[in-house]
Amino acid sequence: MRLDNRRFDVDAIKRDHTVELVAAGYGVELKPSGRGLVGRCPFHDDDQPSFYVYPQTRSWYCYGECRAGGDVIKFLQLKENVGFVQACELLDSQQPPSAPHPLPEKPAVKPRRNWERLGLDEQVLMNTAAAVYQYNLWHEPGALEYVRDRGIPDWLIPVFHQAGGDPCAAQLIFGAEFSASSGAD
Ligand SMILES: [Zn+2]
Repeated sequence: MRLDNRRFDVDAIKRDHTVELVAAGYGVELKPSGRGLVGRCPFHDDDQPSFYVYPQTRSWYCYGECRAGGDVIKFLQLKENVGFVQACELLDSQQPPSAPHPLPEKPAVKPRRNWERLGLDEQVLMNTAAAVYQYNLWHEPGALEYVRDRGIPDWLIPVFHQAGGDPCAAQLIFGAEFSASSGAD
């Protein structure tokens, strides 16, 4: 086995080659489970998925026969039957693998469009929609009761609607007092 003094940026290797992607490259199908991912262990004949990957700690563990675990480097060491340095070399020489299927991510939060950036026709549309909502609200006792139940006073309702009925937006307009007085969570 060739050993050299080459230093590896182990943190970068672990960051660029996540356990879940490298394992997927070896045909391990992972599914979300609790705080991690689970699939059939690639190191033993796994009847039921016992191979857990924890993306947050960049680690894995087999709760089945193997009772083994570690980081992505350890995974490659076992898979390729090589030492630590060689496993680092193998990972370091590869481009970071791309996900075979997109991992679940938080949906991107769309930035709110500023009122000023809306076109004139869009502003007219929004005003019309707000007017229709307000008209309907004042004539719909159930809806009005709901809004009042949320602790929103009548004088605030028209403004609340301009905020899109969004307590967060209304809170931005009226500050923390709104949150405290409205009971908005
Ligand atoms: Zn196993």
